[in-house]
Amino acid sequence: MFKAQKRFIAGAVCPRCSEMDKLTVFSEDGKDFRECVSCGFKEQMFLQSAPKELETRVNLTEEEKLAETKPVRLVDPDSSN
Ligand SMILES: [Zn+2]
Repeated sequence: MFKAQKRFIAGAVCPRCSEMDKLTVFSEDGKDFRECVSCGFKEQMFLQSAPKELETRVNLTEEEKLAETKPVRLVDPDSSN
């Protein structure tokens, strides 16, 4: 028994009946669909997978993290007198 878990898309507008917050997304047979509970509009979604090269950009060494963090210079209170 297959049970599709549907989730509502907040703020999404149905392209057919223009009703807001009526669109749901669910997976079926490894594919993603969106369906409108108001008018019955159903469409397969083709999600673009992000390039894997971008993942390596997240990894920063400790030296790179320190280089981006500039030390805060404290102002000498006596200099304002
Ligand atoms: Zn609709």
